[in-house]
Parts: sequence; C-alpha cells; structure tokens
Amino acid sequence: MMEDLHLSTGHELKVLMRDGLESAKILDALYARIDVLDSKIGAFALVNRKAHRRPGGGTLDGIPVLVKDNICVKGEDTTCSSKILKGFKPPYDATVVRRLKEEGAVLIGKANMDEFAFGSSCETSCYGPTRNPWDLERIPGGSSGGSAAAVASDETIMALGSDTGGSIRQPAALCGVVGLKPTYGRVSRYGLIAFASSLDQIGPITKDVEDAALLLGVIAGYDEMDSTSVDIPVPDYATSLASDVKGLRVGVPKEYFVKGIDREVEAAVKRSINVFKDLGALVVDISLPHTEYAVSAYYIIGPAEASSNLARFDGAHYGYRAPDAKNMLDMYVRTRSEGFGREAKRRILLGTYCLSSGYYDAYYLKALKVRTKIKEDFDNAFKFCDIIVTPTSPTPAFRIGEKANDPLAMYLSDIFTIPANLAGLPGISIPCGFTRSGLPIGLQIMAKPFAEETIFRAAYTFERNADIEKRKPKL
Ligand code: GLN
Repeated sequence: MMEDLHLSTGHELKVLMRDGLESAKILDALYARIDVLDSKIGAFALVNRKAHRRPGGGTLDGIPVLVKDNICVKGEDTTCSSKILKGFKPPYDATVVRRLKEEGAVLIGKANMDEFAFGSSCETSCYGPTRNPWDLERIPGGSSGGSAAAVASDETIMALGSDTGGSIRQPAALCGVVGLKPTYGRVSRYGLIAFASSLDQIGPITKDVEDAALLLGVIAGYDEMDSTSVDIPVPDYATSLASDVKGLRVGVPKEYFVKGIDREVEAAVKRSINVFKDLGALVVDISLPHTEYAVSAYYIIGPAEASSNLARFDGAHYGYRAPDAKNMLDMYVRTRSEGFGREAKRRILLGTYCLSSGYYDAYYLKALKVRTKIKEDFDNAFKFCDIIVTPTSPTPAFRIGEKANDPLAMYLSDIFTIPANLAGLPGISIPCGFTRSGLPIGLQIMAKPFAEETIFRAAYTFERNADIEKRKPKL
C-alpha cells in the first residue's frame, strides 16, 4: 500500500520502483513519518528536506539512506553530535557517501549519535538523547543510536553507522534491527571522522539481512584514499544470499555465557543456537580464553587513539571557536573546554595518560600485547568453526540515565562486541526474539576476516527459518 511505503525494505522498494513507483513518494512517506515521530525519538541530527533522487540509476536508485553524523557529506553539517564541530561543513564527501551518491541513494539526513561515537546509549549528543522506539524511556544503544532508532521506527529505509567497539551491533540489537560491522579494511574510512583509527569501520544498519548485503556491496571495496583499506574483490553479497547452513560449523564460546548476562537474553541466544542445529549446522564448543581482558585493552587503545585524533579540534581549523580569546593558547584551551562534553574529555584524559612517557609501556604497549592474544584466540577457534555465535549485548535496552553517571557500567555494555574490533573481524547483529516486556534481543554472528558472505548466509538462513515474531514498535 502506498501509505505504508515507509515500512518497506530497500529491496522491496527496488521492485516497486521497477513497476513504476516514483521515488518522491517514498520520501514523502518518510518526511511525514519524521514530522510525526522524530520530536519524540530524536534519531536525526539533521533532516535533509531537499533530498531528491539523482539521475543515473544505480543499485540504490531512489532509496533513502540516513548517514551517521560522523561521516562527511560535502557541504552539509557534520558534527559528530558535538558542540566543537557545530557549523562544520566538510568540503568533500566520505568515500562511502560518494559511493552512495554514485549508486543513486537519496541522503535523507544525518543521524544522532553519542558525541564523537564515545558511548553505548546515545545520551551524550549535543542535540539531546535518542530514545528507543520500543520504549521511549529507554536508550536505543550507541553510539549509532540515531541510525538504529530511525531504521526501527521506519523514519528511514536504511542507515550507515560506525563501529569502534560495538556501535553498530549493540544499537541494532537494542532496537531490533540488523547491523553489520565489516572486516577492518573492507570499507574505506576516508571521510569518517576518526575515533580510534585501528578499530573504526563503517557499516550498514537495515531492516533485514538482504538490505545489509545490498548496502555493504555499495560501500565496500578498496580506496586509495585509505591506506588501511584492503584490495580484495567485493563479492556480490546480495545476489549470493543462500538460505542453507547444512554442515556449517557454529562455534559457541563458553566465555560469552557468564554471570551477569540477562536471563532472557541468554535463553533467546541458546534457542537460536538450536535453530542452527535443527537446520543442519554442527554446533561446536569453543574457547576464547582472553575474552575477559578485551574491555580493559579496548579502554586503553581506544582512548589512546582518540586523544591523538581529537587533538586537531582546537578552534583554528574546524567548527566551534571560543569567542574573545586573549591569545592563541587561551583560544585553544577555552575552545576545547567549552566544545567537548564530559565523556570526550574523559577519553582525552585517559588516552593522554596512557600514552605519556613512563606509562606507555605499562599500559598502551601491554594493551597491544593483549590485543594480539585476543586475535590469536580467534585464529585458533576458527580452525574448529566457520562462524561464532554469541549474544550481541549482555542486556536489553536499559533506562535513560541508568548508567549515565557510571562510566564503568556503561563500558561493560560492549563486552561481547569489542573483541571483533580488536581482532579486525566482521560481525553482525540480527534480531533473535523479545523479552517478556517486549524489548528486542540481538544475536551476534562473527566470522573470519573477509568472510562477510558466510555471515550473511548464516544470518539470512536464520532470519528466514527461525520463526522470530515480526513486530513493529507501537509508536
Ligand atoms: N561503546 C563503545 C565506546 O564507548 C564503543 C563505541 C563505538 O563503537 N564507537 O567506546
């Protein structure tokens, strides 16, 4: 039905447009939806009211895509949801944005996020929090909370997020949508405002697995502008989707089912593992012995890189500059004091401390060694399995404010997603059920580097066969 266009997936809209649907109708449906809902949800940092279809066709011709606010779009506000970048309009497109445009996508706006992608709750944005469409008193997850909430509430068809320690997968899980962090190097980071350059990846947040495959196919691939992008051919993810896991070896790491994990989450994930078994996969117990050190290593490496990456925001080059400074040093100090929020300052302090002489060996170098151990854990495990299945997040969405003043509790929300970033692996979160109170639960599937096709195969098969109730949030 025309009035339900906002409910569609990208691949469904492609078919409708082939049969004559005008893309402007899709945009009208989304704008109407945004006008009614977004004052409640707060998923958008910016709505692009002048979005339109470009001539030229392409894989995403006429499909609206929402881009996270840390990805540069030429001439449009790109602020990382931070006061310090207010007014910054990049003079160039990120490579992913260039590719979206080339393939005909319609850029519908910028998604709200935790300031500079520091966080798991989307509460630290200078635009105010994003709320979870399933329960407006709860957080949508973070840092790509705006992207996930907008997809879950049908305010966009697809979205891009970024994931440094879980920021695509955790909000996807908490909002009941699909989110994929690609292999490190699969997608160009050129034009992604850096948080931790050795961990960051851009990836799709979508309503189903097929759309994730479609969107990854557009943004993936070698880019000479990013020296860490890898020159490996991009498979046609969307057309190679297969619904079959017979003989696939599904690894279940014992370290991911420990005390502290929510009972309903654990039960849903265990049920999901049985679904794979019933579909002919072989379930194998594996061990990732260094898992318990992942969060600690991440909170050294992540802030260390962030403190260096954020040094460029000094009032001289981009965005905000404190007024009436007495001299240059005063301008730097006041710009950074006024421009950065609390969590950004905490990360800069932590990172600078870990990198300072005398502490570098004790903290940063040690964390790098732990990172290598974690990578070795996965290398060993993948001798015995093709995919690894775990919960995405230890709990469903928590209440707004619940962890805002307890950074350590907040940091633990990413306990199951951080290892894939440290090891550079691809990982997806797909819906695998609901709690009794109606909150979505996510299932994480990881695989070897550049084995996104295997992840899609498992995720697609699960989505088609698992009999997960298709619900929409009541809004
Ligand atoms: N929540 C994690 C952090 O605060 C991960 C964020 C991310 O992936 N960008 O660092």
